[in-house]
Amino acid sequence: MNLILFGPPAAGKGTQAKKLVAERGFIQLSTGDMLRAARASGSELGKTVAGIMDAGGLVTDEIVISLISEQLEANEGASFIFDGFPRTVAQAEALDKLLAAKGQQIDKVIRLVVDDKALLARVTIRFEEQGRADDNPETFSKRLDAYNSQTAPLLPYYGEKGIISEVDGMASIDAVAAAIDAALA
Ligand code: AMP
Repeated sequence: MNLILFGPPAAGKGTQAKKLVAERGFIQLSTGDMLRAARASGSELGKTVAGIMDAGGLVTDEIVISLISEQLEANEGASFIFDGFPRTVAQAEALDKLLAAKGQQIDKVIRLVVDDKALLARVTIRFEEQGRADDNPETFSKRLDAYNSQTAPLLPYYGEKGIISEVDGMASIDAVAAAIDAALA
């Protein structure tokens, strides 16, 4: 089974993905983590994406699709959780093609629903605790704009396939995890 954890930045996708990895043996593919690792390594890719990430924009489809493609090749036969990918319709279409070439598909999209006010409150705490530059309030509002304009339009794409389960992402971490478990049962 392949799963997408879908939702705005700071909705809890990474936290829930890690729980699912520990409990169900999925492989988590987070393009945000991959891009941060590229930056930390000082690679050319890292240098290319740094400015865009710091501004709260989306890096090109080409870059993130190729990162995902490499990971699908490297983990043949695994079950994946996609976290922070796809973020555009072009990415979703590319993912469907990559999976179809392996006889696989996206089986479920878990949509974590959290309102903007709660996201801002969460990210303010995360910024203070972790100091992630793109969590500062100004950049975060640009990330939220990118989500609303480029990523939210994916909902009808998956909605038409009838594979979205909505989960109340405002609940506690354990309650969200329980709701995801129920959606996957
Ligand atoms: P995240 O940790 O998922 O919020 O990602 C951090 C940043 O990495 C985003 O604000 C984007 O600049 C970039 N990024 C991560 N995933 C993608 C994606 N699928 N498409 C475009 N940009 C991405």
